[in-house]
Amino acid sequence: MTINIDQAISLVKKEVVNYQVPVVDLIAVQTNDPFKVLVATILSARTKDEATAVAAQRLFTEAETPEQLARLSVSQLEKIIYPVGFYRNKAKYLHALPQVLEEEFGGNVPQSVETLLRLPGVGRKTANLVVAVAFKKPAICVDTHVHRIMNIWGYVATKTPLQTEMELRKKLPQQYWLDINSILVAFGQGLCKPQRPYCDRCVLETFCPKIGVTPRRLKQIGRKTSDKELYFVSWNVNGLRAALNKEFMEIFHKFDADIFAVQEIKAMPEQLPDLVLNVAGYHIYWNPAQRKGYSGTAIFSKKEPLGVLYGLGKKEFDEEGRVIALEYDDFYFINTYFPNAQPALKRIDYKLKFNRALFTFIEKLQQSKSVVLCGDLNVAHKPLDLANPQSNKQNPGFSPYERAWMDEVIATGYIDTFREFNREPGNYTWWSYRFNARAKNIGWRIDYFLLDPGSRHRLVEAAIHDDITGSDHCPVSIHYQ
Ligand code: SF4
Repeated sequence: MTINIDQAISLVKKEVVNYQVPVVDLIAVQTNDPFKVLVATILSARTKDEATAVAAQRLFTEAETPEQLARLSVSQLEKIIYPVGFYRNKAKYLHALPQVLEEEFGGNVPQSVETLLRLPGVGRKTANLVVAVAFKKPAICVDTHVHRIMNIWGYVATKTPLQTEMELRKKLPQQYWLDINSILVAFGQGLCKPQRPYCDRCVLETFCPKIGVTPRRLKQIGRKTSDKELYFVSWNVNGLRAALNKEFMEIFHKFDADIFAVQEIKAMPEQLPDLVLNVAGYHIYWNPAQRKGYSGTAIFSKKEPLGVLYGLGKKEFDEEGRVIALEYDDFYFINTYFPNAQPALKRIDYKLKFNRALFTFIEKLQQSKSVVLCGDLNVAHKPLDLANPQSNKQNPGFSPYERAWMDEVIATGYIDTFREFNREPGNYTWWSYRFNARAKNIGWRIDYFLLDPGSRHRLVEAAIHDDITGSDHCPVSIHYQ
């Protein structure tokens, strides 16, 4: 079975409209400058787009032209472009580039694959990409995504990107040559991922032959592997009453968690039905906000804790019901709903004050026992924690101030449990309700389980349950011992 290529490209093109644009295309659109496209393409080899974008921006601040680039030494270039992959080699190529451009091409970027191949650091993929992106001339840039996906579709049956390029030159209609790379790179990064592609929500699911693919299995809700393990779940339900209409209780029971923490309950206990107020086998603790229909947290625990703390002891935060801490024999469990910094960062001061007060609180607790902190922290820490880092740099949840606080927490030794197991992009816990963002996986990872610096040995597993719907966030969990 092979795929209908026109149908496939047409569907994928529509699918990726709101995906992150590959960085080289972005630079081409923003600058319309073949030299910058060439430099960015050299930087981008074996490097994530986020790192390429930052390095390219830094480099273009120092050197926008071949003449300016020629003035930088190899060691200066190494510092500027770090940490792109193979930055030492790339610094040498970039250092040599202006002279070759000047001597062989009169200072201009050449326009054909064959001539581009004479430049330092330029291989076939780079040359094709520059021809297609910078000069809009027919060329097929076959990178790992194009090679992989064309084989998955059965459109080619090849072993190397070069073989794929040659096959595509013979059979792919020329109208697709220019765009195929940017379309399939975006698609390959966002949905048809190299490992465990998201076939279950792919537009091509019904007619893709999936050659050589092991589709992502929907995650099994975690089962404990030993009696010593505890299973903790955290979920921002975005209104518990709404979630109850979307199978909250069924999901809750399926998890069978030892502790289940919820944030943004947006309800007083007296507004809730008995089925969530009295759950057999659980002790339940509520900390609603004073303001109706706003914020609030709750915890369901199988084991009765030794003690319960509500809030941080500061009225301005505690009236919003943002914190509950349960004390057990050998750890504290803290459920938090961090404030949102709000558009134009209107509430950033309040949020940072809350962040500092919370950090002081957990530092105090962890002097006597381990600390498990979970909840909606309302911040994506690193660029790989959200789909569109570039366009959100100054936005709430990814502002430098919020990220700096998170840097500080992690630098102190606190453990971002999910990243202990998974360093891949594309793992998110919140998606806007707009723009079909969840289906397209244009999301943010803003819900966490953090552990205190001394408790790494207690962490068994961490997971994001992005197949669970019912809120604009999905649950996150850890196994703890
Ligand atoms: S995500 Fe799955 S169904 Fe979609 S193109 Fe990739 S392999 Fe095919």
